[in-house]
Amino acid sequence: NSTFKVLVLGESGVGKTSIIRRFTEEQYQESYISTIGIDSRSKVVNIGNENVRLQIWDTAGQERFRTLTSAYYRGAMGIILVYDVTSEYSFSSITNWLETIVQNASKNVCKLLVGNKIDCEEDYKVISTEKGKERADDTGLQFFETSAKTGDKINEVFMEMGKMINEAKRKK
Ligand code: GDP
Repeated sequence: NSTFKVLVLGESGVGKTSIIRRFTEEQYQESYISTIGIDSRSKVVNIGNENVRLQIWDTAGQERFRTLTSAYYRGAMGIILVYDVTSEYSFSSITNWLETIVQNASKNVCKLLVGNKIDCEEDYKVISTEKGKERADDTGLQFFETSAKTGDKINEVFMEMGKMINEAKRKK
């Protein structure tokens, strides 16, 4: 059986751990103390009539120190790049993250863009859906808006990532 290594990247606080926990454990906790160091969680999903293990790697806060090592990127087949729709800073950081990805990840790694915390009130939503979509189109990425809190579109993101990796593998 295949294992697909998937990274979840983006600024601290955008909801990476919450997204991973929502997908793998189907739960959400407001205050979750993340462990130090990098950890990964797995979930088996059915893609193209085959069971594949999505092995999802969290940064566990390492992104704050800009110390994600090349070992972290090694063998990564997919990257889910996350910003927070209530944070202009997290959105503008996407450019930096894309550069970091080019420098560290394999050239044909599958990527998609996610705007998280879509459950937040309109007043707090500083990055509109249109703005997110535009950014995704500019960089040729697929785009989703999610909520780890309500679970909105979380499965869709990971299933799409699985499909993308599966197709990329078959083209090889
Ligand atoms: P990380 O640093 O990127 O791993 O982010 P966390 O998963 O630790 O989340 C940071 C904060 O945002 C926590 O207080 C979460 O409860 C909150 N959070 C994460 N996802 C959502 C979401 O979809 N909606 C809302 N309202 N809050 C969220």
